[in-house]
Amino acid sequence: MTGPRAEAVANDPLEGLAGALFRDMGVDGVYARTALYESVIDQLGGFISSQRDPQAEVLRFPPVMSRKQLEKSGYLDSFPNLLGCVCALHGSESQIRTAAERHSNGGDWTTSLAASDLVLSPAACYPVYPLVAARGAVPVGGLWFDIAADCFRREPSRSLDRLQSFRMREFVRIGSPGEIREFREGWMTRAQQLADELALPYTLEVASDPFFGRVGQMMAVSQVQQSLKFELLIPYYTGASPTACMSFNYHRDHFGHVWGLHDERDELSHTSCVAFGMDRLAVALFAHHGLDLARWPATARRALAL
Ligand code: 5GP
Ligand code: ZN
Repeated sequence: MTGPRAEAVANDPLEGLAGALFRDMGVDGVYARTALYESVIDQLGGFISSQRDPQAEVLRFPPVMSRKQLEKSGYLDSFPNLLGCVCALHGSESQIRTAAERHSNGGDWTTSLAASDLVLSPAACYPVYPLVAARGAVPVGGLWFDIAADCFRREPSRSLDRLQSFRMREFVRIGSPGEIREFREGWMTRAQQLADELALPYTLEVASDPFFGRVGQMMAVSQVQQSLKFELLIPYYTGASPTACMSFNYHRDHFGHVWGLHDERDELSHTSCVAFGMDRLAVALFAHHGLDLARWPATARRALAL
């Protein structure tokens, strides 16, 4: 490789890791993962499971979810640029055959695609709120969930911390505003202890989501003013701009309102989620501790049962 792309790769201090952790799949930000990398993902998953509230219900979601549910959640108002929609060839056998044959003849088959009822999940927690709402009133004391999904966001990049397809683990709490505050504040303290155990440097900062467009900029300012989002940021190497590896989100009554989530006294439920970026955390561990797991710091080895 030559030219500016080769230079960008050569100047990236993380590029040395890429060969041991990932395999190219022909698209930036979409990688096959090596056994070494997955062994750390597995141990990290176990470490996070050990932090789960004993009352939590465990659910694992597939990488796709209902398009209608995501639309109703308001995603298109906030991040339309990041959404991936599953499209397919619909119609009769001859219509589908004609479209596919256009490809064989050097043409473009994709012009016949139409949206299906699925989108690629952009975050793990969206499906949990309608699922809970369908069960009726939220019980006294609220609910805890441990969820995970492969997530997709359309932001191609060659940077190892910006994947298009990445794994997200979340602890979700649904309950009264007081219960939610306690959950989120507790987790902001605990997450720092986890980062300490993993021997990773971090800062905890108030943050905003990358809302789309000019209206989005105002949404981001309001989110910061209300301190609705915090992130645990980890610099991958000295001098690197830090990467958000966990986020602590307070949705107030947004999902309660959208899905009619309420308690037995008909009070709207509030919701919060703590999101662990599994791939970002795994890359952070390798970036700081190297490729030889036997030489990782003792506290990280203990936490990850290596
Ligand atoms: P959020 O919903 O707060 O944007 O994302 C939750 C977590 O998912 C982030 O804290 C981060 O760890 C992870 N995440 C978000 N975007 C990306 C990405 O582009 N690549 C990777 N590997 N992880 C991401
Ligand atoms: Zn969430």
